Amino acid sequence: MALYFADATLFDGRAVRRHAGVLVEGETIRWVGPHRRAPRSARDAETIDAAGGTLTPGLIDCHVHLCFDGGADFAAEARVGEAGAALKCVRNARRHLAAGVTTVRDLGGLGAVTCDVARAIEDGVIEGPRVVASGRAITITGGHGWNTFAQQADGPDGVRKAVREQLRAGARSIKIIATGGVLTAGVSFDFTAFTYEEVEAGVDEAHKWGVPITAHAIGAEGIDHCVRAGIDSIEHGAQIRPETAKRMKAQGTFHVPTIRALDGIVDNPEEVPAYAVEKGRAVMEFARDAFARAIRAGVRHACGTDAGTPFNPHGGAPREVLRMIEWGLGPEKALEAATANAAELLRRPDVGTVEASKQADLALWPGDLIGEPSNLLAPRAVWKRGALVGREMTGAGL
Ligand SMILES: [Zn+2]
Repeated sequence: MALYFADATLFDGRAVRRHAGVLVEGETIRWVGPHRRAPRSARDAETIDAAGGTLTPGLIDCHVHLCFDGGADFAAEARVGEAGAALKCVRNARRHLAAGVTTVRDLGGLGAVTCDVARAIEDGVIEGPRVVASGRAITITGGHGWNTFAQQADGPDGVRKAVREQLRAGARSIKIIATGGVLTAGVSFDFTAFTYEEVEAGVDEAHKWGVPITAHAIGAEGIDHCVRAGIDSIEHGAQIRPETAKRMKAQGTFHVPTIRALDGIVDNPEEVPAYAVEKGRAVMEFARDAFARAIRAGVRHACGTDAGTPFNPHGGAPREVLRMIEWGLGPEKALEAATANAAELLRRPDVGTVEASKQADLALWPGDLIGEPSNLLAPRAVWKRGALVGREMTGAGL
């Protein structure tokens, strides 16, 4: 089975090429180049007329919680039990596909549920985006997330052991909770949780296994600990200091700002618990400045929605891209954050760009995405490993 995308405006994950052709054979991209120089074998392929549309890699959302639907009370959602959470994962996974998202990184769920869901998708038991699961996040005793999606661990040896336990359960990414958070009552968001030594132990252990590690980090000191210890990315990062941003640029640490998470909380003050709204508003003030500071320092961004948090439903990566653009990132950079940068952060060189030999994860959008990014809100069609997916939910034909 071969597919030929004819005469597309192509965003290949890094840059735009006009009048491009892309040939897919089976699950793999075989050829990318100017449409008028299409290889002979393209003539025998099923042709998709992509003229007037924009073809991109399938989007990547680096921060989701598949076990959570995005209800008003995050802590209440955690009380469903693992079987209930697994069922939510199935539905939420499909929502990503329908939005053009073909890979997600899950950053904290119940038990080993997300690891099992990742395997079920990989094995074709259920349809969904590729899931890079973290199992449970790792937090200090009583720290942010302890009563929802995190395992508690203390001391460098304790953190090291927790990393090993998550990897044994099937995790292919590790998340630590380095500071307080918005959605746990009684913990201030800028509280520094793990000590530098604890963070260092976690980073060392994850990297020893070749697995990326990220940190939920809002307060300045916690962010700084993580960056100095060599973490791969900072989630949220509302209080990134200028000197920390410089170090992030030098080391190649990614910033995942998760603007949609804050929107969901501050835009729904009637329904979200009051402690979360109050903290969310305070964090929003810092977050926009920190994002601008990171851009100025040359820090690279990756797209993450934090989907599953209040009023932040799955499939929101296109909206996160739009929010990053509103906050000052150029459209090409924002798309790069949701494709090539994200794949690099997740250590998945097989996805995230449209190049020969990569997996055929593709999304076709109406019109010119760079000139009119809001076209991201309705994909024309989505392919994962060369197969058309998410069609019934988008209602999209070709
Ligand atoms: Zn999160």
